[in-house]
Amino acid sequence: MKISSNIRIVLFCLIAIGAVGIMIVHNQLSTANQITSTQRTRFLMDTAIEIRATGPNSEEAVNEAFTEIARVESVFSRFIVESEVSLINAQSGRWVSVSEETIALMDKAIEYGQITDGAFDITVGILLDLWGFSSNEWRIPDQEEIEQVLNKVGFRSIEVNYGENLVRIPKGSCIDLGGIAKGHAVDQARNVLESHNIQSAMIYAGGDIFTVGSKQDGSAWRVGIQHPRQSTELLAIVELVDNTIVTSGDYERFFVAEEVRFHHIIDPATGFPARGLISVTIIADSAVDADALSTAVFVLGWESGQLLVEQLDGIEAIIVDDQESIWVSSGLEDSIQLME
Ligand code: AMP
Ligand code: MG
Repeated sequence: MKISSNIRIVLFCLIAIGAVGIMIVHNQLSTANQITSTQRTRFLMDTAIEIRATGPNSEEAVNEAFTEIARVESVFSRFIVESEVSLINAQSGRWVSVSEETIALMDKAIEYGQITDGAFDITVGILLDLWGFSSNEWRIPDQEEIEQVLNKVGFRSIEVNYGENLVRIPKGSCIDLGGIAKGHAVDQARNVLESHNIQSAMIYAGGDIFTVGSKQDGSAWRVGIQHPRQSTELLAIVELVDNTIVTSGDYERFFVAEEVRFHHIIDPATGFPARGLISVTIIADSAVDADALSTAVFVLGWESGQLLVEQLDGIEAIIVDDQESIWVSSGLEDSIQLME
């Protein structure tokens, strides 16, 4: 067969373009599949959040995970004026249309309210305002002031219309998701990392730690729990794989007046900071559960807190009381290393 020189040139060009095309695609594939490690820190949700990830295109995965955390914050922070939670609060007394995600998180929070018989209560916003924890202008309210607002506190008065995604809280009430939203954000970030096929990652969000898989060398992540009274010392070390560990403590946000420590975890029954415990660490599969439970068990206290932890499947805890006695849940006894 005779091929004219013109056709030969065209064929050569096509083969060359094809080859270049294949080369480009191959390059893209090999870049996409390249295993890299990325470590980045950003300040979001009022805390420094660090993500470390190893896997294909880890940088893109980490950036997307941060974008997701920022999105969650923009929906659930009551300090962002356009957030859905701010809308619910600003229009208290009226039905407010919200996203399915907000309905789901409110539902989870209400469920924890029920499980803990009201120790966990997302309507504590008005009490946090009264104590100045929302503005950092701390003050000790008098008993009368507290009694005046206590009738605006109570998760049972939150109404949810599931069919139409509507929420209504009583006039003057205030939702605060500070005890649960960070957990949700971390779970979402984990989903993003997993959707990028990241095999090994750690999300560190102001003391809350989430691990994806094991460490790069296959060993478990060894995570230290801060001592509640000696900030540079560790209370214990635990090993985690695909797990989350969240601590609530009276040392995180507090002020001291007349030698008494007043902190940000409020007992909804009294309107005062919860007394008896100084630190509660929860280990669970999901960060949202660990986050809600660490706050809730802190309010429940030594005995009721232990009872609840032992009742729940897949939940482990380390509880420290104000005498610095330490309790470790039964499922954790063999895998925890307590410091002297
Ligand atoms: P955490 O550090 O997860 O224990 O969350 C503490 C935050 O939870 C506080 O700063 C408040 O925003 C919120 N909070 C305080 N007391 C309660 C409570 N009894 N139930 C639910 N959320 C609370
Ligand atoms: Mg919490």
